Amino acid sequence: MATKKRDYYEVLGVGRNTSDEEIKRAYRKLAVKFHPDKNPEDPHAEEKFKELGEAYDVLMDADKRAAYDRFGHTAFAQGGGFGRGGFHDPFDIFREVFGGAGGGIFETFFGGGGPREDRQRGSDLRYDMQIKLEEAAFGVEKEIEIRKLDACDKCNGSGAEPGSRTINCPACGGRGQVISSRGFFQVSQTCPRCRGAGQIIEKPCRQCGGEGRVEKPSRVKLKIPAGIADGSRLRSSRNGEAGIRGGPHGDLYVVIHIQEHKIFQREDDHLYCEVPIPFSVAALGGEVDVPTLEGKAQLKVPAGTQSGQLFKLRGKGIMNVNGRERGDLLARLLVEVPTRLNSEQRHKIEEFAALCGEENTPLRKSFFERAREFFRDV
Ligand SMILES: [Zn+2]
Ligand SMILES: [Zn+2]
Repeated sequence: MATKKRDYYEVLGVGRNTSDEEIKRAYRKLAVKFHPDKNPEDPHAEEKFKELGEAYDVLMDADKRAAYDRFGHTAFAQGGGFGRGGFHDPFDIFREVFGGAGGGIFETFFGGGGPREDRQRGSDLRYDMQIKLEEAAFGVEKEIEIRKLDACDKCNGSGAEPGSRTINCPACGGRGQVISSRGFFQVSQTCPRCRGAGQIIEKPCRQCGGEGRVEKPSRVKLKIPAGIADGSRLRSSRNGEAGIRGGPHGDLYVVIHIQEHKIFQREDDHLYCEVPIPFSVAALGGEVDVPTLEGKAQLKVPAGTQSGQLFKLRGKGIMNVNGRERGDLLARLLVEVPTRLNSEQRHKIEEFAALCGEENTPLRKSFFERAREFFRDV
């Protein structure tokens, strides 16, 4: 060799005690810079690239690194411990470090290494669905009809007219990339004819224009779980739009809106309602009907129930969406004051009022006790 071999640490620009991680980082940076594909004008690029690969190969291998640290380049010379055959191909090293053969990061850095997959995934769709509170409480199965881009049935989504073939793109010769010159630089671009696929359809399908999908109505079945909350988003996998030329479907997202109920208000897994009861039942006690999602339930009302008192019907609420527990139903009893009394009813109430002492109106009694103190303070 005419020129003296450079020190491996110097090649990578790292110190002698550098960790593997740092060597790898240094290599990544320099290998991208000196990759021959990126430097077509530089005759020394390949040499530098090989030198880098060799340095990396040695320093990343504990045995080789130890030998190099002791003997320098002679460790790998003819007759040395490892011999010339001990080095790996610098392009293999590059691919190994950056992962993947030609794809991935290689493409990101250099604008393409080979034909690219162009079967684009279809878009996700959103559907807003109104459901009843009862349906949210117990779960329901629904079937909806949506218009969306779906696979063309004439070409089965391939985009090719039946009987027609796919051929290598004449614009790029199947590479998916075209090279154009800009001044000193050669720029590699995605082929505009085949959009990087490398292949084109000889005769595009006449029904879908070669896209492999057409807009049409389709029916989707949805299972809505018991206990679902208002505003929840359900994903119906692969029920979104079809992809281009047989590409994967997008997903369908269903947003649940629960309609307001005439009787019940929902608070998480609990239900709340107001139930008017007759004045006499509140006073004497008795049973009243309370509505539930499953029909009427009987509630025992104790004598002397005040208006606004809350009663809990355990387990008559909504099933928790994640578990087996059901919430409760809270019924607020509203004592109704009778209106439009006839003369007999009026007379009886007057009689009743005359009989009432303060012991019959505990709330009123305690209120006026507090009020008396309040007026004294003022
Ligand atoms: Zn078609
Ligand atoms: Zn092309």
